[in-house]
Amino acid sequence: MDSPPAIAPKACDSPGNYQAIDTVVNSSPQNRSGGRQLGSHLAPEKRRDANTMRDIKACWSCAFQRDKCGEGDPCPRCAKRCNKANGPHPQLACDRTPLWELVEYFLPSIMTSIHTQQALKDFVYKHTTGWTDVRIRLRLIPGRGLPAMPCEAYEFVPKTIEPQRQFQYFKNSKTGMPLRSERPSPPLGMVQIENRDKDQYTKYIDDIIQNYFPAFAQMYCSDDGYDFNLRLLELLRNLKPEAKDEKDILHDVRRLIVVTYIMGHTLVLEEANRATVLPTLRHARPAIEYGTFCSPRVVNRQLKYLFCQLHTQYMSDVYKKLQQMLKKSKQWPPAKWVAAFAAMLGLAMVHEDTQKTVHLLADYKVAAEGWSFREAEKVAGRTCEAIDVKFSFVTALFMRRSSKGENPIVHRDSSWWSTKLDRNASVFAEGVKKLVSDNCKSHILFRFCFIQKLQNPKRKSVAETTTILHQVTC
Ligand SMILES: [Zn+2]
Ligand SMILES: [Zn+2]
Repeated sequence: MDSPPAIAPKACDSPGNYQAIDTVVNSSPQNRSGGRQLGSHLAPEKRRDANTMRDIKACWSCAFQRDKCGEGDPCPRCAKRCNKANGPHPQLACDRTPLWELVEYFLPSIMTSIHTQQALKDFVYKHTTGWTDVRIRLRLIPGRGLPAMPCEAYEFVPKTIEPQRQFQYFKNSKTGMPLRSERPSPPLGMVQIENRDKDQYTKYIDDIIQNYFPAFAQMYCSDDGYDFNLRLLELLRNLKPEAKDEKDILHDVRRLIVVTYIMGHTLVLEEANRATVLPTLRHARPAIEYGTFCSPRVVNRQLKYLFCQLHTQYMSDVYKKLQQMLKKSKQWPPAKWVAAFAAMLGLAMVHEDTQKTVHLLADYKVAAEGWSFREAEKVAGRTCEAIDVKFSFVTALFMRRSSKGENPIVHRDSSWWSTKLDRNASVFAEGVKKLVSDNCKSHILFRFCFIQKLQNPKRKSVAETTTILHQVTC
């Protein structure tokens, strides 16, 4: 099924890159600051330089300025630049990091380590002692109104209490904070997970995007006291750019939003399915004790093992595509700016969602794995801060990349932009502008300095705004 097109990062990224950019932008030899004349060969010494640069990669500042980068930290040009003023944008530090290398911060190990194959095997081995041979068809949903994912499970004989209980988190209606709740979980698991299942779940995610997005947006925002995320999701869903790279990155961002949501929520049995399955089990409690949000913990973990792989894949895909857009040599036309900005907003949502899940995971570590509260809090704090720092770097790149042109959020009025943008992109830009002027409580927009000038909400930390309904750790 339509997996995202393969991307060869080397082709667009390595210092081949800075030379290629030089060649395109500055074709007259006397203007050239770095590259060489078309068709000429490099002298051996220069070739050696070029090879070294291919290994260490050009820094972002040099790539943006179309300058030739060099070795060192900072590189020679950044060392000179640091004394110069840089207009309204802060000077970028000399940094060569390709964006896909940031994925390890955006998908921190506190989240991914429980979803490795080994962790899953260990869990099943440690907590189950045998399997019955009656095949049971399950239908699980990650939220009300969302389509069911079908899967085949078997009942197992539990060895310990662990697979028969599960921590779920609900929003405390008084404090707005997450409330941990220990729930019984039926002893059901899949005996085999195959790779074709991954394709099935890719299709599942695309089905949500194409056919269930309004219901998804409702679930995504069900614990919000304001409609910022709901409106932003709607805008992201309706933006339909023409250019292939813009279309592709937005498709991947939508997938990433959906899979990040799934990774942070419990997969529960659909109501009708629950009513037929639970009474047939031999090693379970009476059906009535399981309640509405009944989730077989082992199946939940097994499915998340598959979704975790998709999570990593989509995150890398988005950052590879963003890297290509940022490093592309030509000035962005307004439509490309809109698509890139939309992708940035989607990423901000995703990272904020991840930060909420990280806090819940820390709580889970305290409740189930004997971590001390202090230790868990420290790890969660550090993990979330790292996400903030790395994403600030990405937003700084975006703003530097787009600093030369005007943008439809800040500059000129909509009538002027309507001649530069097609109707669909204008609607998106107007919608975001309206979010800004409505001063919606969210620091997703506030991450972009050109917006900070337009509004001045008291910025709240993620921890303060965290209110979670029915999210779960594993
Ligand atoms: Zn440089
Ligand atoms: Zn540099």
